[in-house]
Amino acid sequence: MKKALITGITGQDGSYLAELLINRGYRVHGLVRRVATENQDHRLSRIKGLLKEDLITLHPGTLENYASIYEVVKNVEPDEVYHLGAQSFVAVSFDDEFSTFNTNINGTHHLLSACRTIVPHARFYFAGSSEMFGKVHESPQNENTPFHPRSAYGISKVAGFDLTRHYREREDIKMFSCSGILFNHESPRRGMEFVTRKITYTAAKIKLGLAKELKLGNPEAKRDWGFAGDYVEAMWLMLQQSQPDDYVIATGETHSIKEFVEKTFAILKLNPADYVTYANSAHMRPAEVDLLVGDASKAKTVLGWEPKVKFEQLVQNMVEADMKFVGKNRGW
Ligand code: GDP
Repeated sequence: MKKALITGITGQDGSYLAELLINRGYRVHGLVRRVATENQDHRLSRIKGLLKEDLITLHPGTLENYASIYEVVKNVEPDEVYHLGAQSFVAVSFDDEFSTFNTNINGTHHLLSACRTIVPHARFYFAGSSEMFGKVHESPQNENTPFHPRSAYGISKVAGFDLTRHYREREDIKMFSCSGILFNHESPRRGMEFVTRKITYTAAKIKLGLAKELKLGNPEAKRDWGFAGDYVEAMWLMLQQSQPDDYVIATGETHSIKEFVEKTFAILKLNPADYVTYANSAHMRPAEVDLLVGDASKAKTVLGWEPKVKFEQLVQNMVEADMKFVGKNRGW
């Protein structure tokens, strides 16, 4: 039985990926911070079902500490490693550059180095990001578009991308290491701090009489939003190829924050003008990424990957899920 190690298993992507790998017959191991195991109901909520059925094994560890990562890789001896763990919120990265770099850059280096030493033949996936394109040099963005990151998060992902490529290209290492350049991907499991989930969750609360307003930042930023469940499939496919490589994963459609709001409120038969305010200073960014739209034709040709869920369906699914979630929890 193949063994997979996922860092960031408690997050949106980690939880979908764990389900996919279990369905494909893998034994799945996850790296988690110790604090997550101490507050299981909250932090492990996305993988609660998998844990209950004993389908995954969790290993406490910290990406920031090489010895800790080394121990986990040694204990698991994985065949495939999916490195999704990171400080993943762009807005926080402006306020806390140091921890963002420490977790995201050193964390990636520690894991690559431990794998190189202990399991040099393991296949390695790094979660790159469309934030690496930042102030875009062309549209749509593909694997050859230059990077121009606009946040500590984006910079840390460029460093991780380069480390991953370096370990693949170094003649004395030659790891099977790949990066996915994933554009924004959402789902009902998305963290509340990201704009899509903030919109669908707050709109559901407004509909059910539990909130009165939705305060947002920049309404004009445009993103290429796909469904996380589709995107984890692409991660897996990258590691099943005969050669390691990097791939853009995107839908090829772009929509503004305002359009996301309008679609959400239309589904709920509410008028956004009655509830939504924009340009709230707490949610504006000191350097914005204005427009992202990806060209995933390489992934389509080489991996046979295509997104199944597009914008309209994604918003619909998230709104329906949040109506149920808020209804059940009455305002949690
Ligand atoms: P990101 O693309 O990884 O930064 O994902 P986010 O979901 O955090 O943000 C997407 C875009 O939404 C960015 O351009 C933000 O400036 C914009 N935005 C506008 N209002 C908000 C808000 O209230 N919260 C967040 N998170 N983003 C907002």
